[in-house]
Amino acid sequence: MSTIVLVNLHKRFGDFTAVRCTALTVGAGRFMVLLGPSGCGKTTTLRMIAGLELPTSGQILIDGEDVTALRARQRDIAFVFQMFALYPHMTVRNNIAFPLKNEHVPRRKIANRVEAAARMLRIEDILDRKTGGLSGGDRQRVALGRAIVRQPKAFLMDEPLGTLDADFRELMCLELRKLHDALSATTVYVTHDQSEAMAMADDIVVMNQGVVLQSGTPHEIYHFPATVFVGNFIGSPPMNFLAVDGLVSIGHEQVQLHGAPVPVPRCDAAADRVLLGIRPEHVVLGEQGPLRGKVVADEYLGSHQVFVIETALGIVRARAGKNERLAAGSPVGLSFRTERVLLYDAVTERLLP
Ligand code: ATP
Repeated sequence: MSTIVLVNLHKRFGDFTAVRCTALTVGAGRFMVLLGPSGCGKTTTLRMIAGLELPTSGQILIDGEDVTALRARQRDIAFVFQMFALYPHMTVRNNIAFPLKNEHVPRRKIANRVEAAARMLRIEDILDRKTGGLSGGDRQRVALGRAIVRQPKAFLMDEPLGTLDADFRELMCLELRKLHDALSATTVYVTHDQSEAMAMADDIVVMNQGVVLQSGTPHEIYHFPATVFVGNFIGSPPMNFLAVDGLVSIGHEQVQLHGAPVPVPRCDAAADRVLLGIRPEHVVLGEQGPLRGKVVADEYLGSHQVFVIETALGIVRARAGKNERLAAGSPVGLSFRTERVLLYDAVTERLLP
């Protein structure tokens, strides 16, 4: 189990800065997911950790040792790509054994490690088949087997499930997580799929435009998004953000929302312009409420539904039970679960203390 620390890691391609990471620590044995939209710098960050891309400035420490100048093969890290390159004419056994043969590991040791990896991945019965004819899932398992046998200090995975269809992705997510629990190896996993990240991660790092916006457990990221972007990017449907007229009361435990007072948890900040952030499941619909609106759509999702409500402050989404009936056009009152209300600076879009 190894700890990976990134210090002031920057990567520029010409004039364009792809990554500006001030500080990031992957704890020993943790499963950390780098999450963010396409082009935000996830892959570049991972490639720098792997030693496949040289940072423009900054340091990468593995277990306290500065590895920034070391080549990829000197870092003792396994990289699993989306497009796993297996040798189709070789058997599964030989594909998995390949990195060990390259390192001239004794035969008996290779056989033992390949068997152990195959047991863990439940592919013992296909060890003597050629990889060319295997299903996507089995090929993915073989690729993982090839990473596991090396017993590396850490695993880096770049959208390894990207090519699989939805059902299979879900199954492989579970298997990967179980595998991680069995190996307890430090893992950095890249995806742009928030549900994959929420399901698998110990820690999620949300990136945008090369910058880390927030790093925390899935619970922290979901319930306390550090910025408006994170609140929008995590959660489906996203968090609601409403512009308030101002903070009121001496201790700031109320805001004025379209002329009506709304209780909020105490807010110490003195921002001029404030946004109220609330998840759809914490919006309460009723006949009364400080904010009035009109139902414009109902997204029925089987176990629950989401009402889309037009208000004077814009669209608000509210989650409701599957049996709740509100016809399109119905007037509704909206209130908010006080302890769940978050306040953001409307200019910096950061969570207020
Ligand atoms: P995706 O999910 O689409 O792979 P990502 O978050 O992994 O995106 P990166 O691949 O790290 O993003 O790319 C970050 C930015 O850096 C992008 O704008 C990309 O175009 C740019 N970039 C990456 N590699 C290079 C390169 N070799 N030369 C120039 N620009 C690059």
